[in-house]
Amino acid sequence: ATWTVDAGWHDAAVVPYGPLQLDPAAAVLHYAQEVFEGLKAYRHADGSVWTFRPEANAARMARSARRLALPEVDEATFLEAITQLIRADEAWVPTGGESSLYLRPFMVATEAFLGVRAAREVKFLVIASPAGSYFPGGVKPVSIWLSQNYTRAAFGGTGSAKCGGNYAASLVAQTEAAEHGCDQVCFLDAGERKYVEELGGMNLYFVHDDGSIVTPELTGTILEGITRDSIVQLAKDLGHEVSERRVSIDEWREGVASGRITEVFACGTAAAVTPVGRLVSADGELVHGGGAAGEVTMAIRGKLLDLQYGRAEDTHGWLRRIV
Ligand code: PMP
Repeated sequence: ATWTVDAGWHDAAVVPYGPLQLDPAAAVLHYAQEVFEGLKAYRHADGSVWTFRPEANAARMARSARRLALPEVDEATFLEAITQLIRADEAWVPTGGESSLYLRPFMVATEAFLGVRAAREVKFLVIASPAGSYFPGGVKPVSIWLSQNYTRAAFGGTGSAKCGGNYAASLVAQTEAAEHGCDQVCFLDAGERKYVEELGGMNLYFVHDDGSIVTPELTGTILEGITRDSIVQLAKDLGHEVSERRVSIDEWREGVASGRITEVFACGTAAAVTPVGRLVSADGELVHGGGAAGEVTMAIRGKLLDLQYGRAEDTHGWLRRIV
């Protein structure tokens, strides 16, 4: 659909996949005025197709849009767009394993002009792609590179918005992680360079020896992961005490060394829950749980996936039937 200052949203349609025509002066190409979302559609054993908490994605996209001076797409329009796209060809939703249909709603400033101001013409689109299991060979703990030279977000910045600029700014740190043989990069806060924020595309959790679970609190610089929020609730259902507070890198290091932190895991729509096996930094390397996936991590992972794939009762009312 297209939005213009005068007419609001109009021209919504499901069309065949193909290139997008943009003016070379389109604002998004120069000033990165855009936001996006990521969610999945899951096929259950009976053939039905469901999304997981899509209202949370709609709400987050509206928050991101406000931060990027873009118009909001209301919840009903957002849900209608993903529903129509999935129903256009529901055979694209894979069956079996941990595969799914990944959905990518996004909004870009298409008005052609040179000059820094909010665009008066914007497009909202949704594309989709089948996604196989994140761990085809079984769950494997990931390694993390601690970025000490780069931060992802500062107070007053766009850290809690899902906008491309955040990812553009994180690429050099992600490349550094790969150069050090790591799968993911971990960012610290921009102020004191001391507190753990999140990974390049996932939120973090720390499991303690008394069964309590801690995740970094939302300070305005961290992306408010929908998986993160779901796990706060699922872990409580499993009897864990869950707290959201600041976690320093020293607490992480000392906790693992002393055995007080027994497991660390990361979470996000793409991988659901993934165990963290190693933390690597310029100061050395720390191995978690012998590099093996922890019990609590796997229990929480199982609980989330059972819910998403319809193998467990949806006690929180998080699933929305599409087909
Ligand atoms: N942090 C960042 C920076 C991300 O890109 C993502 C993926 N959207 C997440 C956290 C996890 O968010 P969610 O659980 O909503 O996928």
